[in-house]
Amino acid sequence: MRPALLAAARSPRLEATVSRMRITRQLVDRFVAGESEPDAVAAVRGLLESGRFVSVDYLGEDTTDVARATATVDAYLSLLQAYTGISSVPHSLEVSVKLSALGQGIDQALALENARTICAAAEKAGVWVTVDAEDHTTTGSTLAIVRELRQEFPDLGTVLQAYLRRTEDDCREFSGPRSRIRLCKGAYSEPASVAFQKPADVSDSYVRCLRVLMEGEGYPMVASHDPDMIDAARRFAEATGRDVDSYEFQMLYGIRDREQIRLVGSGVHVRVYVPYGSQWYGYFMRRLAERPANLMFFVRSLVSRS
Ligand SMILES: Cc1cc2nc3c(=O)[nH]c(=O)nc-3n(C[C@H](O)[C@H](O)[C@H](O)COP(=O)(O)OP(=O)(O)OC[C@H]3O[C@@H](n4cnc5c(N)ncnc54)[C@H](O)[C@@H]3O)c2cc1C
Repeated sequence: MRPALLAAARSPRLEATVSRMRITRQLVDRFVAGESEPDAVAAVRGLLESGRFVSVDYLGEDTTDVARATATVDAYLSLLQAYTGISSVPHSLEVSVKLSALGQGIDQALALENARTICAAAEKAGVWVTVDAEDHTTTGSTLAIVRELRQEFPDLGTVLQAYLRRTEDDCREFSGPRSRIRLCKGAYSEPASVAFQKPADVSDSYVRCLRVLMEGEGYPMVASHDPDMIDAARRFAEATGRDVDSYEFQMLYGIRDREQIRLVGSGVHVRVYVPYGSQWYGYFMRRLAERPANLMFFVRSLVSRS
């Protein structure tokens, strides 16, 4: 089902149908903080109160329209304003951006300029920025943009996906001083030529990549809900003598909430990725694809309604 769901995540026709279903909304609410900026800010306040850090993502991807890319930049600038005075804990606030929402598919220079505008405003506001990873056809262009922006904004973070065969090498490149890498398993449907296919091979790659990052000089961001990956990170942190301010755990909004709180209680930093906005379809479908139980819940709700 996973490849079918991930293909469906890119279908505008299915997007229109699924988005109209009232029953979908209930499940979407588990993963998405809401459609508006005030919804996102309310979720952020709650998470900060519980000792967690946040990274807010304004939903949207694969933009083919310059006006929409500009509207996305405006949404981030407005969000950065809304962050004002919300937290005094250093680095507790971050925004996550997808370059495809900033026009990467139209023109790489447009995405670079749009990302630069967001980075400049975030730097002024004392907020971190991390560039999300999308499908493998964009990896080269995304890392090229990140390299260029890091010359001006050295704290700019990015995401590397452990399922890609290239990622261990990318981790070596991005393990130097001030580099911030969010390591995740990877959420897209990728061919065997570029990506490990078996879950066990993806996990093995994750652990190898994590070792490179933990042994490096940067700030690893361990983005996984998998207890084995979390244990591995804690082991590497102990073995390399890292203090708790030199790395963090990250999880998605609505997933393993109790584990997030347990980790905070154990004295480590946990950042929650908080998506908001009306373009939730692609993000939502990737969450369904990750876990059969989510899909079954969705299907059962549809059947019981009909
Ligand atoms: C902060 C953050 C940012 C991310 N950014 C990106 C990105 O930029 N690009 C990208 O390709 N991917 C991104 N991802 C998604 C990631 O690649 C994985 O698809 C996702 O995290 C599931 O992998 P896992 O490591 O949690 O392990 P899995 O083996 O998939 O899951 C381990 C356990 O976590 C729980 N779990 C996992 N997913 C779900 C779910 N959807 N619903 C309910 N429970 C679940 C289950 O208990 C499961 O058994 C991000 C993930 C996080 C946490």
